Amino acid sequence: MGSPTTHVVVGGGIAGLLAARRLARGGATVTLLEAADHWGGRVSSLELDSLVLDAGAESFATRGGVMTALVSELGLESAIVAPTSAPAWVVSPERSYPLPATGWLGIPLRPFESEVRRILGWRGAVRTLSDRWRSLGSVPDDITVGALVRDRLGDAVADLLVAPVIAGVYSRSIDEIPLASIAPGLPAEVRAAGSLIKAATSRRKASPGGSAVLGIEGGLARLTGALVSECEAAGVRLFTNARVASIAPGTDDWRVVVDGAGVSGGAKFVADAVVIAVPLPMALQWFPDIGSDAARYVALVTLVLDAPALDAAPRGTGVLTTGAVTRAKALTHSTAKWPWLAARAGGRHVVRLSYAVNDPEESVISYAVGDASRLLGVPLESWQVRAATQVVWPDAGPVQVDLSRVPPGIELAGSAAGLTGLAAIVAADAQAR
Ligand SMILES: Cc1cc2nc3c(=O)[nH]c(=O)nc-3n(C[C@H](O)[C@H](O)[C@H](O)COP(=O)(O)OP(=O)(O)OC[C@H]3O[C@@H](n4cnc5c(N)ncnc54)[C@H](O)[C@@H]3O)c2cc1C
Repeated sequence: MGSPTTHVVVGGGIAGLLAARRLARGGATVTLLEAADHWGGRVSSLELDSLVLDAGAESFATRGGVMTALVSELGLESAIVAPTSAPAWVVSPERSYPLPATGWLGIPLRPFESEVRRILGWRGAVRTLSDRWRSLGSVPDDITVGALVRDRLGDAVADLLVAPVIAGVYSRSIDEIPLASIAPGLPAEVRAAGSLIKAATSRRKASPGGSAVLGIEGGLARLTGALVSECEAAGVRLFTNARVASIAPGTDDWRVVVDGAGVSGGAKFVADAVVIAVPLPMALQWFPDIGSDAARYVALVTLVLDAPALDAAPRGTGVLTTGAVTRAKALTHSTAKWPWLAARAGGRHVVRLSYAVNDPEESVISYAVGDASRLLGVPLESWQVRAATQVVWPDAGPVQVDLSRVPPGIELAGSAAGLTGLAAIVAADAQAR
């Protein structure tokens, strides 16, 4: 057995916590450095009107079973909950419609069902179904979602169904996002199936019980608390308020300099290896050769409302937008989506709106009530707001990273490796074990 190595993990979001736990369990001496005063990054919580709410991620994809396995391993299996089965809606400047329940990533799996036909019309449905018999042609590994969907299913499916889902989940246009960044094997799966609808149907079937996402009673941020406990138990040295300022190679090691107030006994760490688990635009400051990604931000506004008109969940679990409807690009009606939260809220409603912002200091909170009213289709006034808050996060889009350009002794994890979403990040950690 080789001698134990010394690792520094930079960034205490889900990816950094998983990497630190994995390395410490493997026998390494591990130090985890987090810039903020709390753990979890985009998987953390906030308190509003005496409710503990997720401040970022609020559900996990069931594909591959990796997340359910992790949640069980962390002792939270009994807290796994499904969202209500109500669909999310799409709101465009012209009309509003529920997303078909039998879809994957917005791709309609049964184009002739009435809920799909109401959106696409008969011609659109026939055009969509033709995917099943038209020969596939070439599907290169770098094809974008937009190019494939437009070719196989037509512009109506692309613009009315898939674009709002991709924009809501990945903050990207379908015409810029590569299919492989949704899941690396997807282009090959489409080639093997000979049809996009068939490949999407297989993906959908792979979700246990047909539910594509699940949550945790009490909030997804419970994962963070459980992982911190496991890191402590594995002997990881944990520091919050420890912002890494520079990472530079030594003779045969790495030098990590911290400028935060949370590190006592010296601000320089020497390590055999460093795991970079910060958002990709930040990782690029240190390793500009590995890829490119502009710093973009999502401002998430959470409202707690007294609004009986929302009791009927007029837009199901929430709204995705297409076209310029409001400044907000998506809305989640959290108390309609999660029964456990509705029970805790006792008649109050929790609504989250997300906004793309270029400047992380920009406040969009003043738009939120008007936007919520427009997207939910009910009158809402500012006196109905019991509490409101805004959190700004690095944008969550998946990006291809050139791993061949990562120097020896450096490992990329989570967002720094171009991954988005907990399922992708946890699967990559499981593979590295
Ligand atoms: C609003 C929102 C909702 C989302 N919803 C979902 C969802 O429902 N389901 C899902 O699967 N995914 C969701 N995602 C995506 C998911 O949250 C992320 O893909 C994932 O949490 C990223 O984890 P990470 O550890 O790679 O990065 P982060 O969570 O961003 O963690 C990086 C950490 O690095 C720290 N850091 C930064 N710079 C430094 C430095 N110089 N020194 C030390 N530390 C530093 C940061 O403070 C942060 O804690 C959502 C994202 C957002 C923004």
